Amino acid sequence: MSYLVLARKTRPQDFNQVVGQVPVVKTLQNSLVRDRIAHAILFSGVRGVGKTTLARIMAKAINCEQRAADGNPCNKCRSCTEIKADSSLDLYEIDGASNRGIQEIRELKEKIRFLPTSSKYKIIIIDEVHMLTNDAFNALLKTLEEPPSHVLFMFATTELHKIPITILSRCQRYELKRVSAEDLTTHFGKLAKEEGVLIADAALSLIVRESEGSVRDGLSLLDQVFSYGEKEISVNDVVQVLGLVSRDIILNITRALLENNPGSALKALDETFNFGVDLKRFTADLLNAFRTLILCRIEGCQELIDIPKEELDEFKKLAEKYGHNTIHMKMNLLMQGVEEMRYSPQPRLAIESTFLKIIQTDEVVPIAEILARLDTLLAGQPLPQTTPQQEPVAKKKIPEKIVLQTVPPVPEPKTTPPPPSEQPPVPEKAQTQIHPVSPATPKPVQHPHKRDVRRDWQGFIEHVKDRNLWMAQNLQRTETIREADGELQLHFAEQANCTLLCQKDNVKLLTEFVLDFFQKDLKLRFITPDKVEGKELDNVNSPHKLRNKLANDPLVLMATEIFNGQIGDIRVGPRSR
Ligand SMILES: [Zn+2]
Repeated sequence: MSYLVLARKTRPQDFNQVVGQVPVVKTLQNSLVRDRIAHAILFSGVRGVGKTTLARIMAKAINCEQRAADGNPCNKCRSCTEIKADSSLDLYEIDGASNRGIQEIRELKEKIRFLPTSSKYKIIIIDEVHMLTNDAFNALLKTLEEPPSHVLFMFATTELHKIPITILSRCQRYELKRVSAEDLTTHFGKLAKEEGVLIADAALSLIVRESEGSVRDGLSLLDQVFSYGEKEISVNDVVQVLGLVSRDIILNITRALLENNPGSALKALDETFNFGVDLKRFTADLLNAFRTLILCRIEGCQELIDIPKEELDEFKKLAEKYGHNTIHMKMNLLMQGVEEMRYSPQPRLAIESTFLKIIQTDEVVPIAEILARLDTLLAGQPLPQTTPQQEPVAKKKIPEKIVLQTVPPVPEPKTTPPPPSEQPPVPEKAQTQIHPVSPATPKPVQHPHKRDVRRDWQGFIEHVKDRNLWMAQNLQRTETIREADGELQLHFAEQANCTLLCQKDNVKLLTEFVLDFFQKDLKLRFITPDKVEGKELDNVNSPHKLRNKLANDPLVLMATEIFNGQIGDIRVGPRSR
């Protein structure tokens, strides 16, 4: 009852009173002026934007006995007054939702067989026409194909895509847009004035925003606010009557999430809860705020933002301070959080934890930038030379005895690098052929004397590191190294640690590295405890093992190292989700 009051009272009676929809109104008026009215007209658009209102004005104008020069109905003649009073015998208004069967369409066809009683045309308006059954559409189609000259159809629908193409092709179509915030503000402001209610600008813009471009929805909200009984309406009144979250709170939370201020975000959230707002509504508002921020940062997209100007200015200020990627990342986390919240038995906790997660994400570096850095690294960017501190450690690992047994006492290649002029050029050339190294960063070539696989293992890893970073990182995981029977035996604690190395191409490359560095043609052999007896252990697929394996997967380790991240959670299970 309350909302019908305004909607009824203020229903536009001619084209001039229609809110928004200027191009459609103009075209309709022109068709009347030029007397080129289509036999079937289809209005589409979301609810409450004026589809049936325009159909009724059109019906009035078509049958008006004293139509104005601009196409407007006079609203005074017999036909106009009858239509206004819902008593015209030549206007059939049908609700497609409740008269959707073939029987109803047959009855309708029966009625329109006869000439109009007192008007030029019989006019049929079918609202929610997409609800008709297929049979009903087919029956209707026959009439549309050969329409009696005294009959005009007008259809309205919120779901254009549900209407058969055969029907669509026989209609003149008008798509009604959501009414802009500006138009609604003007319209509602005028109504408030007429009702003798003083409404604050911010309160009005809140109602406009809640209407989401629908005049009817807005009027229903206005009715609620007017019936609140106050002669002066403030933002808080609207917030309270409509059970909304105030824009300030949304803006404050958005700001806190961007500034990484957990205290402020949680406090504002608490305020919202104390207010008893609808969580779904609240999170939708928050997501919308992030959407606004993103649109603020995209050139030429600001007209997609339909919020009051002062609010837009606040968002623009905020958007300028943060990168697009950062805003986007935080918005994605928020979306995930909202999704989780929906299924959480403790929604408040879920949303709080989402806030904290969002706050923990720092400025986002674009992936392209990271990849560029990675490329530089993999292209053989010089890495720090072995530091003096590293050397004693490497020495300590190897028992003195073995060193003496296997290596002639020549100068250490690393601790006393030769002056550049004495570098022998030959092996460097060979290396370059196998794995190109950036010419800008030539690596000083090591002594070509016989190296020992165990003593010089760290040196070898350094050698590989300059040519293939991940391979070097994988080699770091060897437990023990042995040279025996023309083989280089690499022991790993787990199969997962050498999965990638074991691949054919990688073995080939590694063999070449070994040949370069140790000057020995050694066959590589990877030894892991899983394969002690030449077969995998039974429990290799147990969840614990699997998790361990995944955690130590070279790719995962490489990714965590590159992104400086850590493994948060590993889920092992069937891929049912
Ligand atoms: Zn008239």
